[in-house]
Amino acid sequence: MTVPFGTVFCDWMTTAPTKDGVYQYGGNVEPYGDFSLSPAAHALHYGSAIFEGLKAHWQVDGSLAIFRLDDHVTRMCQSAELLRLPALDAAVLRQMIVDTVEANVGEVPPPPGSLYIRPTLIGTEPNIGAAATPTSEALLYIVNCPVGDYFKGGVRPLTLLVEEDIPRTTPQFGMVKSGANYAMALSPTLDAMAENAAVDQILFATGGDITETGAANFFLADDDRVVTRQLDSSFLHGVTRSSVIALAEDLGYEIQERPIELEELEDWAGRGEAFLSGTAAVLSPVGTMLRGNSKIVFGDGEPGTNTLRLRESLVAIQNGSGDDLHGWRTTVQS
Ligand SMILES: *Cc1c(COP(=O)(O)O)cnc(C)c1O
Repeated sequence: MTVPFGTVFCDWMTTAPTKDGVYQYGGNVEPYGDFSLSPAAHALHYGSAIFEGLKAHWQVDGSLAIFRLDDHVTRMCQSAELLRLPALDAAVLRQMIVDTVEANVGEVPPPPGSLYIRPTLIGTEPNIGAAATPTSEALLYIVNCPVGDYFKGGVRPLTLLVEEDIPRTTPQFGMVKSGANYAMALSPTLDAMAENAAVDQILFATGGDITETGAANFFLADDDRVVTRQLDSSFLHGVTRSSVIALAEDLGYEIQERPIELEELEDWAGRGEAFLSGTAAVLSPVGTMLRGNSKIVFGDGEPGTNTLRLRESLVAIQNGSGDDLHGWRTTVQS
């Protein structure tokens, strides 16, 4: 059975509106449902909206654990700061996430399904004159979705289309997990996909410099090395990316965090592998890349052995069958 990604919502949510810029969380979950918003709300006019995406997984011992909760909380606090939303209290955000997941525990699907957690923060100040000022008030809320595979068809090699002209977002906005970045990528993505129905994702490589795809980070791998772009403000610093790096290190791979040029892909394709990482994408093998009229096929176009090995070690930590050497699991129900 496949659960549609992001279209089914669990019964319970949590909300914390600000009062005088301070988040008010009463410690109770509420039934999932619509809320009212001023037509002049800052988020609707000036884009003061951010989100997070993380998952809770059933563990092999029957408990439920959230994967890398504190890292997602930290990143959301950082996104709020970069978009000048009222400063988040990490402890409150963390508690809201845990409370929501505990309330929805009966709706978490069995593996390979999981519970997707979507914390969201929007600017609510009713003031359309506030174009050049930050929102003074905001609403923080957490909703959950039971989810299955993000890419249709489970673990299968993806086809990426290389975009060399249009950047995914503006460089200074790349690190903010915000809907605005997706809005910017939408039109070029649709245009590119219209010409080729077989494309799963666009790989942004402005001027030949690879950043990431629409919603996942990009990796190259061979038997000895794992390569990904070095951290800079041009792209979203995935928690999955950092997990893959740590696990690859544990497995003895040499890690290279450096610029990746389109020009080296042809060479890698002949002897190595490529994959994407993200909470939704997990670790997804790349089989083919389309660049202009040329087609770059990695290996035989099937998932590579190193990719599958890294994926297995990631999934093992997520589902509790592997040792949690890095302290990434938060048990919410034992
Ligand atoms: C969320 C996101 C990712 C993946 O980040 P994870 O923390 O691994 O889920 C990658 N790119 C973009 C643009 C994102 O919004």
